[in-house]
Amino acid sequence: MSTQSSSEVAISVSGLSVFFGQGKDLMQAVDEVSFEVKRGSSFGLVGESGSGKSTVLKAITGLATDIDGVMAINGQTLEGKRDKTFYSTVQMVFQDPYASLHPRHTIDRVLSEPMKLYGIENIEKRIVEVLEDVGLGAAFRFRYPHQLSGGQRQRVAIARALVLNPSILLLDEPTSALDVSVQAEILNLLADLRDEHGLTYILVSHDLAVVAHMCEDVAVMNQGKLVEILHVDQMRDMKPADPYTQELLTASMGYDAKKYAT
Ligand code: ADP
Ligand code: MG
Repeated sequence: MSTQSSSEVAISVSGLSVFFGQGKDLMQAVDEVSFEVKRGSSFGLVGESGSGKSTVLKAITGLATDIDGVMAINGQTLEGKRDKTFYSTVQMVFQDPYASLHPRHTIDRVLSEPMKLYGIENIEKRIVEVLEDVGLGAAFRFRYPHQLSGGQRQRVAIARALVLNPSILLLDEPTSALDVSVQAEILNLLADLRDEHGLTYILVSHDLAVVAHMCEDVAVMNQGKLVEILHVDQMRDMKPADPYTQELLTASMGYDAKKYAT
């Protein structure tokens, strides 16, 4: 892997191993994974269920703590508990917008809570702004999650991730729980937001079409290991170097990069 000049690197992960359990139950979920994500780019992480994709994101956000290796955000090495500065820089969006929004909290409350925690002023203005940003608008402010469609809920989850003006979003299967018809809509929104705000993404998906749509570079994971990192063109041409990646591509022959082409 080539090393970018350090000022261009938003996320760097080096020799990351992650463990769960202990004693005879000890298991290694991630095995010496290394990659770099350039500022303003989208980096895809693909692989079958259980290959360790979510665990990599959990290690970055500090949710998985039994780890080896070095991780850095904007050149700052991550150590110990993540602080407020970390969460105002890095935010995560999860797969299931049904589970991730409190059913009895209005959208207004969902969006204002993180801002209160961070002592941000002009909360009301920011809520309206961020709702516009995700294509919902102020009319949604006092609605409850059950009054929204799956796609609208995921837009709220994205708005919540954006309220603190982070520069990095970690997206864990952000469209997997949605109807196919809505998936492309959310991916297009994410691409627009990235370009407008200069965001950097790690996009986790088991769906090659999703990462091909969004990402310049794609890391393929298998059983906790990073098998290869390929440029999206290699994937579109169906020309990966590694036989496992070829297998993954062939197995998803329903895969059609043009399906999501913008
Ligand atoms: P993916 O996101 O690629 O589907 P995960 O990162 O969720 O995979 O999981 C990788 C491996 O780690 C799996 O074998 C999973 O069972 C295991 N794992 C994940 N979280 C935990 C946990 N909290 N405790 C024990 N094992 C876990
Ligand atoms: Mg996962």
